[in-house]
Amino acid sequence: MSDALHEKTAAELGSCLVAGETSSEEVARAFIERANAVDEKVHAFLHRDEEDFLAQAKASDERRAKGESRGALDGVPVGLKDVICHKGQPLTAASRILENYVSPYDATTTTKLKEAGALVWGRLNLDEFAMGSSTENSAFGATHNPWNLSCVPGGSSGGSAAAVAAREAPLSLGSDTGGSIRQPASLCGVVGMKPTYGMVSRYGLAAFASSLDQIGPFSQTVEDAAILLEAISGHDPLDSTSYPAEVPNYSEVLNENKGPWKLGLPKEFFGEGIDDEVRRLVDEAIEFYRSEGHELVEVSLPMTELAVPVYYVIATAEASSNLARYDGIRYTHRSDRTGNAIDVYAKSRGEGFGEEVKRRCILGAYALSSGYYDAYYLRAQKTRTLIRQDFEKAFEQVDAILTPTSPTPAFKQGERNEDPIAMYLSDVFTISVNLAGLPGISVPCGFTEGGLPVGLQVIGQAFKEAEMLSVAHAFDAAHAFGRKSPTL
Ligand code: GLN
Repeated sequence: MSDALHEKTAAELGSCLVAGETSSEEVARAFIERANAVDEKVHAFLHRDEEDFLAQAKASDERRAKGESRGALDGVPVGLKDVICHKGQPLTAASRILENYVSPYDATTTTKLKEAGALVWGRLNLDEFAMGSSTENSAFGATHNPWNLSCVPGGSSGGSAAAVAAREAPLSLGSDTGGSIRQPASLCGVVGMKPTYGMVSRYGLAAFASSLDQIGPFSQTVEDAAILLEAISGHDPLDSTSYPAEVPNYSEVLNENKGPWKLGLPKEFFGEGIDDEVRRLVDEAIEFYRSEGHELVEVSLPMTELAVPVYYVIATAEASSNLARYDGIRYTHRSDRTGNAIDVYAKSRGEGFGEEVKRRCILGAYALSSGYYDAYYLRAQKTRTLIRQDFEKAFEQVDAILTPTSPTPAFKQGERNEDPIAMYLSDVFTISVNLAGLPGISVPCGFTEGGLPVGLQVIGQAFKEAEMLSVAHAFDAAHAFGRKSPTL
């Protein structure tokens, strides 16, 4: 750990700012300098507006000078995945179809960040419309893993994970539909958390699969994730699926709740197909909990093997409907090779969307088409209920569930590009959590011999983020693997 501002956690930056040891402007300048030094290699950002960032920092310093500081996040930068609206800034979803689009309003999460005084910092790369697990599906170039530039950072929120890992931002937001926060967090050696469905507003998030999407934090530590989660959570009348749950002071609860906990190990998650080193590091993390006096219990989630196929019916069905709005008529790319209206749709979408997005729209439209609806969509929905019930049964026995986040560490760029199924299987351990609507967090739990990070997933009960965070924090506070930085 060094004393450089860009290495600090959000909690540390917050205390330095409160103590007057630094200013918001100095903080902003440190991250501008860092991003300018390393982002050419990492390519976490799609866009950075330094002027706007510095203006926010100056406003933060002025508030502090007048004694009107807004708390722990005032003056702390937060990067946004390029699917979350920031008024006046571009929003591309890493797609040609939105290449020149500018957000006309703020997402609720962005509004909440501003209300907390955070400095909204840049637009972060992703797989086009959040479809993918490697950030190679971006229309504007892949992001590279800061721990090994020839490897992928995971995805779809690869830019958000890599920005925090490369210390280009202390915090960022991503979105998670089937693992897109937790899997890249695991592959980049940072903390990444998906809240319970309904905990964080989706207003102003470019929709992929509306019954699964959630926005959540990336950070170096669980404590920072708790601080950021608290700022963005809560009921929002602008999102009809947002839930009127209480928002506890998560970062305070972290140290109070120490268990002992009953922790479940789902036997279906520890079978074949896990990389040996991932297995070893996750086993060591489990041993840590045992040695601290928590009880480890085997549980069963028998529907696990159906989670990936069910997800690829439901998520694609919702995507085919959500992405129908990109029609070349309103605000998106319009082909100039067009004749009649059908032509405008077909050519604009044909030119604007990448291959994976087209594959999903076609799969989803097929699953919803008459004659196939009952066979695919309806059965997938019924199976989704069974998956949720599996978790409900398991949680009658345990407080939280531990699993690997991803079956493998970061893989090489290009390695899974020709094989969509291999890519889809990157998310076998994360997808069922979205289908069940539960909260999940990936915590760094060590490094392979080749120097690649590995993550432990903690799955919590619906709306019990506080307890899940405490379980994750117990490991993180004792190991702090997320505080290690890559050499760039
Ligand atoms: N990798 C999964 C997919 O491609 C999950 C993506 C996500 O969570 N946004 O759909």
